[in-house]
Amino acid sequence: MQPKQIFTAYDRFDVNQERHAFSYCPICATPLSTTASSEYPRQSCPDCGWIHYRNPAPGVVILITDEVRVLIGKRGASSFASGLWCLPGGFVEFEEDYLGAAIRETREETGLEVEICSVVSVCSNFLASNLHTLVTVLKARVVGGIAQPGDDLEELRWVPLDGPFPDMAFEADSHIIERYRQTRLLGAPVDPEYARLQSGDGR
Ligand SMILES: [Zn+2]
Repeated sequence: MQPKQIFTAYDRFDVNQERHAFSYCPICATPLSTTASSEYPRQSCPDCGWIHYRNPAPGVVILITDEVRVLIGKRGASSFASGLWCLPGGFVEFEEDYLGAAIRETREETGLEVEICSVVSVCSNFLASNLHTLVTVLKARVVGGIAQPGDDLEELRWVPLDGPFPDMAFEADSHIIERYRQTRLLGAPVDPEYARLQSGDGR
């Protein structure tokens, strides 16, 4: 099975899509203008010269598996694609490393403590005109805790790797699970110093 790493839920090249989050310069409060001088349209400040560079949001997705089943969660009412199912995951905070973010998101969404085993893949997800993500997909194994949904998830379910699955929110998640089922490829090793919660870490 070939790896698929770019997932597009809408036409990201449609220039009529509204992508700009700001009306005013965050430095000097002058109304921003849009420049088309580069390959991608960007907002800039005509007064102080600030340029609004936009980047995909970095996230992590965690493939938690006992090699027979995979843990998925139902997305809560207030989340994007609510009511559909997904792998646990979330955004990397500014102060965090990505492995710590995966451990934290897993704890918040599932109540479980995990050890990160490997980098399974990296995906670009063009989900909506205001939501592009760059997601590191990590395989993890449970080392503690009690499964209980929290944060963005309202229900958890262990599902056999070959399904059947409930309606999934993201094409990427379905691909990741199926590819792992078929290939069992672990991917790249992770930094062992950060793969597991350190004692005395306080997190
Ligand atoms: Zn300005």
